[in-house]
Amino acid sequence: MDVSALLGQLGVDISRLHGGPLSVFTPIDGSALAALTPHGPKDIEAAVEEAERTFRQLRAMPAPKRGELIRLFGNELRAHKAVLAELVCVEAGKIRQEALGEVQEMIDICDFAVGLSRQLYGLAIASERPLHRMQEQWHPLGPVAVISAFNFPVAVWAWNFALAVVCGDPVLWKPSEKTPLSALACQALWLRASARAAVVSAFPPAISQVLIGGRELSEQLARHPKIPLVSATGSCAMGRALAPLIAARFGRALLELGGNNAMIVAPSADLRLAVRATLFAAVGTAGQRCTSLRRLIVHESLYDRVIEQLRSAYAALSIGSSLSPETLVGPLIDAGSFERMQAALQVAREQGGRVVYGGERVLEAQSPDAYYVQPALVAMPSQTAIVQQETFAPILYVLPYRELDAAIELNNAVEQGLSSSIFTNDVREAELFVSAMGSDCGIANVNIGPSGAEIGGAFGGEKATGGGRESGSDAWKSYMRRATNTVNYSSELPLAQGVRFAD
Ligand code: NAD
Repeated sequence: MDVSALLGQLGVDISRLHGGPLSVFTPIDGSALAALTPHGPKDIEAAVEEAERTFRQLRAMPAPKRGELIRLFGNELRAHKAVLAELVCVEAGKIRQEALGEVQEMIDICDFAVGLSRQLYGLAIASERPLHRMQEQWHPLGPVAVISAFNFPVAVWAWNFALAVVCGDPVLWKPSEKTPLSALACQALWLRASARAAVVSAFPPAISQVLIGGRELSEQLARHPKIPLVSATGSCAMGRALAPLIAARFGRALLELGGNNAMIVAPSADLRLAVRATLFAAVGTAGQRCTSLRRLIVHESLYDRVIEQLRSAYAALSIGSSLSPETLVGPLIDAGSFERMQAALQVAREQGGRVVYGGERVLEAQSPDAYYVQPALVAMPSQTAIVQQETFAPILYVLPYRELDAAIELNNAVEQGLSSSIFTNDVREAELFVSAMGSDCGIANVNIGPSGAEIGGAFGGEKATGGGRESGSDAWKSYMRRATNTVNYSSELPLAQGVRFAD
């Protein structure tokens, strides 16, 4: 597939895209898009030094001026929304609607960050000493490394980038080696935006840098003492590899790792809504969202009915090229993903599961190098070991429950803690689910599915999901350092706690 026209429209220098050892493929038909030259250890070192120089300038800029840059970036994204979304479609295999949604999410976080640039509030705190003033200030932190996953190739970076920039931090972005072109496109749009800024002459050029390559680059960034924050999105395995490297140098880690998200369907649920929500959450993005629905926990009185309704809904799904407007389910990212899906289905069968629908490869004759699958619906008698794993593919395990407490226990009995939801019209059940005795996830919803979060809330999860929070609410605090200042404007020197010392 030829993406040079798309990349050209986005301002990417296409002369750099061929002749290197890093091949980039489209999951739509498996054909090659580009062959890039990855960055090496020396490039990373030079980039970190450049980011450090940039930080010294950026931290001195008033935050609303930094916000102005993000406003201009948001405008570039608005102007190029359809083109960037098309590139995401081609490179990550997302259907167009979802790719457009992903770019819209970038625009939304830019708007949020522009407002935030005038609201980086600290607290004024009552001092116990007379004629003293105590306050908290938030200061820029330093260069931030952003490591991102293939399945949200642009939005996750934007969540980090927009906040980091208004907070005064330059960003070094290592995108997934499966989606570097989308990253190069974002960088080109960013450079256009910053060139447009009237204030740009005062701005250093390296506020954003993109570093292309694999996990060895992430490791170098994680170890680097001059990067105070590493924001890493990907599998739990990646988090397990990187977190100790960051901790060993007392760096700050913002981890957004895997999910194994559940939805409870209670006896009072509006089934029409519950089935629609299940469909979007379980098969959207071909089951390749961190918040994809993987475990449906259905009250035993509805179990057969829900499975039957889902089976019909699954049978009506249109599967095919992400570029086709009718498609609801695009391809898996690659062969490895397909193999992991098949292996998981086999284990599920061995553990007592019954594949009620789907699971098989489709469109193989038309696209022998691409991996399209019929999303799988698997009736499980209980939450066996395979159900407790995140398989990054469209497999929905359906489990029965009798008492709500047991359903909540099932929801919580996996190592990840990203997203969850309940469908119920019983206010007691809904409130219990979102209470301290309910879901242990970072996201707990009522009468909507677990996926498709808005940018206004803090996004992230607990336990093996890593504990990080990105995007809205007060997630910006991760990108700044807090200083507590006490100012004495008296002519005495009283000590705290009434301590007397040489007075
Ligand atoms: P992945 O872990 O394979 O790769 C993610 C990034 O980490 C890539 O840039 C990759 O180069 C790097 N990486 C991978 N393994 C590494 C290692 N051992 N050491 C250093 N760097 C490493 O993930 P993926 O397949 O691209 O994405 C899917 C995974 O990401 C799923 O588990 C999904 O749940 C998770 N995810 C989480 C969120 C979230 O916000 N919680 C968002 C998107 C994806």
